[in-house]
Amino acid sequence: MISEQTDAIVLRVFPWSETSCIATLFTRDFGKISVLAKGARRPKSPFEAALDLLSVCRIVFIPKAGDVLDLLTEAKLTRRFRAGARDLLRLYAGYYVCELLDRVTLRDDRHTEVFALAEQTLDALARTDLEIRAIVLRWELQLMRMLGHLPSWNQCSQCGEPIPDAATSVFGAEAGGVLCERCQAGQRLMVQITSRERTLLREFSTPQWQDIELSDYISTGRKTIRSVVQKYLTVLLDRKLNLHSYLEELGR
Ligand SMILES: [Zn+2]
Repeated sequence: MISEQTDAIVLRVFPWSETSCIATLFTRDFGKISVLAKGARRPKSPFEAALDLLSVCRIVFIPKAGDVLDLLTEAKLTRRFRAGARDLLRLYAGYYVCELLDRVTLRDDRHTEVFALAEQTLDALARTDLEIRAIVLRWELQLMRMLGHLPSWNQCSQCGEPIPDAATSVFGAEAGGVLCERCQAGQRLMVQITSRERTLLREFSTPQWQDIELSDYISTGRKTIRSVVQKYLTVLLDRKLNLHSYLEELGR
């Protein structure tokens, strides 16, 4: 059996038997995988403390075909998520990285860039000099962009007509982007956004995501920005995300 080696972020861990557990991992080279970690619950586990939620670790595993769980043979901790020790909001933001990643990705779908984004987001959350609202917004919009779900900020999402930079425009969560006046009829879950808010959303959607400034305090329409992104994600995923209610502070 061929074993594979890669880096992984721990998304979920639950007990399987008295000595084993099952973990959902998001890996750099293989996307999301579910592994059986035999002996992980023994006092002297071969995985030590690597299988903690939000940890980044170096793993070795044996892929299995079909519905059988992959077998984890090694896991070495690279970085523990430390942001939560100081700040509950940053801890919730870390859980949110997990939740969103788990919901939007399918098993074995490879997304190297998404791994880099998730890893950098967890790192950024541990740095108090970086603004949490900027970190979360970059995470959400860039994840959408990388997976091909970015809302349309410039053209009407229904008819494609360019939406001029007026004082305000209308975002339709169900339509998946801004709407021209004609296409607003009959739409639900609309949010009015100002030109400044739209500019900010556009800037955070840029493909040059590594250049997005995270140390600037977001003072522009926080409540509206949260409303746009959360409504959009709720419609896209067809469910309310658990962590959204823990992150209300971001809109204040
Ligand atoms: Zn239109």
